[in-house]
Amino acid sequence: MTEEENDNDIPEGFWKFIGGLPASKDVKNGERRILECGNCGGKVYYSKAENNGHIFAKCCKCKMEIMQ
Ligand SMILES: [Zn+2]
Repeated sequence: MTEEENDNDIPEGFWKFIGGLPASKDVKNGERRILECGNCGGKVYYSKAENNGHIFAKCCKCKMEIMQ
């Protein structure tokens, strides 16, 4: 973490990363996938929680991640 980082400072490539993920409605609860990162082409681990449908996705290469 640096002092420049805050919630309004979206890193470059983040939207490409998001764009490479499936729509939440297209994934069943409890499902896990390995995807290609829309930002860097690396491996993205994507999962949707069984109980509440929360999404977690993280790229191994560029380290972009979301939790929803
Ligand atoms: Zn990536």
